[in-house]
Amino acid sequence: MSNVISFDDVLLVPQRSDISSRSEVNLDVELGQVKMSIPIVSSPMDTVTESSMAAAMSSAGALGVLHRYNTIEEQVKMFNLSVGTSTQSLVAAAVGASGDYLARVSRLYSEGCRVFCIDVAHGHHISVESALKSIRDKFGDSCTLIAGNVATNEGYSDLSKWGADIVRVGIGGGSICSTRIQTGHGLPTLYSVMLCNSQREMEEKPAQIMADGGIRNSGDIVKALAAGADCVMLGSLLAGTDESPGQVISTPSGDKQKIYRGMASKEAQIDWRGKARSLEGVSSTVRAKGPVREVLEELAFNVKSGLSYSGARNINELQVRARLVVQTSASQIESQTHIKMLAR
Ligand code: IMP
Repeated sequence: MSNVISFDDVLLVPQRSDISSRSEVNLDVELGQVKMSIPIVSSPMDTVTESSMAAAMSSAGALGVLHRYNTIEEQVKMFNLSVGTSTQSLVAAAVGASGDYLARVSRLYSEGCRVFCIDVAHGHHISVESALKSIRDKFGDSCTLIAGNVATNEGYSDLSKWGADIVRVGIGGGSICSTRIQTGHGLPTLYSVMLCNSQREMEEKPAQIMADGGIRNSGDIVKALAAGADCVMLGSLLAGTDESPGQVISTPSGDKQKIYRGMASKEAQIDWRGKARSLEGVSSTVRAKGPVREVLEELAFNVKSGLSYSGARNINELQVRARLVVQTSASQIESQTHIKMLAR
């Protein structure tokens, strides 16, 4: 049996730098045909990405993936509403790997959508193979295909071969996820990214890597990028913003919150399917955070700072220079803000 590591188990070693300002650092990334200036993608969840989030992500130079828990017409409406034609190439739409997925892709394609995300909990699956192949057969290379989720190098390799441009990597790590509790399966997202990254050079057409699940702060984003991810997908960090779907709830203590829920939670399943089975997620609330642009700006600023600690001016340099080390439990405690412990 091998040990696996997660975000808190590792640190990046600070390195000699000649970067005088964060403005010298850029986070540009091209995901398939999509040019982004912030390597952040909003998750296709019904409390994260509908029209407003997708439009705001797009105008910030990031990417939003419209969720698929709706009818085709509803998703098309989301795609067209306030997203605007000039930015549509920066809006992606999620589809499943069975049922109406091909009709959904075709209809969205006719509206101008060119980025699709085959969104399956266990993405290393023959249904994803046939979905990828049939979308490619019909639309060739005219669209960018994201597919997942996978946890292993074998999964990454198969999805690369089946035609994915970008593989979503991470199983069981999401903040609202209970997959590991319910099924005993999963791997830490950072470890999965490392596994998939080590497979890259063995592939004839290596897909890009999107780290997804369990990313809690800008430090985790820097670690994921350093470990080989081209971008990260976020749920909880973007939930609770003005642009996430849902109402602000005022608690008796005066806090402002918004609902954030797993798509396999009882609440989400009942809303979208009318019944709940195989619960692998929970519903919770997160603090209302204001405009997503401010959240993205703060994350991007801190990630740039992270790159500069490794002496890197861009993501590629970070991946070449990064030295990840495993830390002990004493170091993990020191790595957290620990003034409260000292005050006791
Ligand atoms: P977070 O950024 O840690 O909140 O994780 C978000 C990710 O959790 C999403 O992008 C999905 O990959 C995953 N996810 C969403 N809903 C569920 C669920 O109900 N169960 C398990 N994983 C989920």
